[in-house]
Amino acid sequence: MRGYRLPHHRRVEEDLAPSRGTDMSGSALRRGRLLALLVMALTLVVALAVGASPAGAHGKGDGDGDKDDHGAVHPPDKQSVATGYGGAVTTLDPYATAAGLEVLEKGGNAVDAAIAASAMLGVTRPYDGSIGGGGFFLIYDAEEDEVASIDARETAPLATPPTVFLENGQPIPYDERRVSGLSQGVPGLVAGWELALEEYGTMPLHKLLQPARVVAERGFVVDAEYVDRTEDNLEIFRDFTSSTETFLVDGAAPEEGSIFRNPDLARTYKLISREGPDAFYEGEIAEAIVDTVQEPPVAEGATRNVRPGLMELEDLDDYEAKWREPTEVDYRDHTVFGMGPPSSGGTTVGEALNILEGYELSELPEHDVLHLLVEAEALAFADRGKYLGDPDFVDVPVEGLLSQEFADERRELILEPFAATEKPVPAGTPEGAPDDGVVLASAAASGSTMHLTTTDRWGNVVALTFTIEEIGGSGIAVDGYGFLLNNELTDFATDPGLANSPDGGKRPRSSISPTIVLDPDGEPFAAYGSPGGATIITTVLQVTVNLIDLDMALPDAIAAPRLNNLNSENTNFEASLPVAAQEALKAYGHNLPAPTEDPIGNVNGIEFLDDDGLLGAAEPTRFGGGSALVLEPWAD
Ligand code: GLU
Repeated sequence: MRGYRLPHHRRVEEDLAPSRGTDMSGSALRRGRLLALLVMALTLVVALAVGASPAGAHGKGDGDGDKDDHGAVHPPDKQSVATGYGGAVTTLDPYATAAGLEVLEKGGNAVDAAIAASAMLGVTRPYDGSIGGGGFFLIYDAEEDEVASIDARETAPLATPPTVFLENGQPIPYDERRVSGLSQGVPGLVAGWELALEEYGTMPLHKLLQPARVVAERGFVVDAEYVDRTEDNLEIFRDFTSSTETFLVDGAAPEEGSIFRNPDLARTYKLISREGPDAFYEGEIAEAIVDTVQEPPVAEGATRNVRPGLMELEDLDDYEAKWREPTEVDYRDHTVFGMGPPSSGGTTVGEALNILEGYELSELPEHDVLHLLVEAEALAFADRGKYLGDPDFVDVPVEGLLSQEFADERRELILEPFAATEKPVPAGTPEGAPDDGVVLASAAASGSTMHLTTTDRWGNVVALTFTIEEIGGSGIAVDGYGFLLNNELTDFATDPGLANSPDGGKRPRSSISPTIVLDPDGEPFAAYGSPGGATIITTVLQVTVNLIDLDMALPDAIAAPRLNNLNSENTNFEASLPVAAQEALKAYGHNLPAPTEDPIGNVNGIEFLDDDGLLGAAEPTRFGGGSALVLEPWAD
């Protein structure tokens, strides 16, 4: 039995409980539109009557922040677990969660809320994801009972040659690739918003950007994470006039507890609100992006070798967010949906689950479950390294990678009796595999990126993960526009001739793994995701096993200590992994040299309980903890 149950007085008989989304006519997502318009019209009338701003952010309600005397918005209460009904939002930041909830309160749906929350994260967590980057949306449409996904990944400028990251035949060192125009892909998030809204939205973009614009303008209270992340980038920001002006206070990180404003970003959001996404892809923002890429605003006296990039105005004009087929695997009696190529998330999580399906994990001791996780990860990562890339450029054998036959074949490499295999393990040959793939090492985790999860009263669900790649992206802010440009193109391999080699118009392979799981009745069971580079995949995999095999409730599944193996000699683990488990793994022959310095992953998600109950959960402590809110909290 799951730990979080509805209080008795709200429970209804199982057979009387309406099944989510099936009792309505018309698309639930679209039906929300009418209600939202009605509520907005009412809000406007009331606001005009009292002479106030129509949709002032954070003005009321439990989860909303308060404004101080100078107009800054104070952080809403932060709780990592919330239970109730009617809708939920989880993110890693309380401002963003409150922004999403505000949209749900106004009658918006899960897609509207996800966009409002992501726009807010661009203000309060600008080093992890923003309109200067891209991401992947996984959307469950309750009425249609289908899962859709949007690829809003950054794209290499058309002029990018496969050798872009080589000089004299050698790779440009990572730090130099990162802090350069060469790493900056055409940002995709704004186009992703547009595509999601066109299909599913019920509120206009300008309304959804408003809470974030207000906080950018009036300011937010800086927390310890914000200070840390600024300090991580201090040397880089100081080398660029734009980044110094946008993010530093007298050349240093802002102090914890101080109020931080980003008026340039507020103006950028205003431009997008007024002119639509075209302002970003064709208008003055596009021009500013191209100027910054082509002539990075290097500060006087900076000694860094900053290579300019190849992005042109046409690259922005040509950018398209794309509908992609989500990945789907049956695991035990659940169905797990994930993100397909150019992300490697869905195929790698799915292959590992198919491998694990051959064991009764629920009956094994903890160290055996962890051992099998590590072994399945290594095998799936070997295949990821060989076959995953942008499907518009390479044939990715998605079906073969996700077939149970292939997983059964891969499982045969796991030793019996249990012992660690020698790593790296070789890639397999799934059906449909091209014969020219080459195994690549997996990039190390960097821990940037953000995930958020939303659901609404109609039962729609969004899992959105977005990023600017490194913490601080390329470190170069767009001059006068208040946001950093990504360094996503460093996710490409440096060598030509591989599935994930650079090319003009190509999207780099990602690890982003927004996940939606349906229960045996086909109803949402849980949705979640995480940042963490390649460890996004292993984190999401472990949470899935914790939920389905180990029957943990989502907060426990998230809090549990993590470990992973990205198909390399060493297994990474958090210091909180029980010593007995560490010893047992070592006895099987795994190398566990030292715990990771940083936590692995930063998960948030929503679990769907009996009788339409919702359990929102975010990290309790990792990276300062995240924030979960529900529309109608249940009282104990
Ligand atoms: N750029 C990475 C990816 O798309 C995510 C970065 C991170 O989470 O550290 O896979």
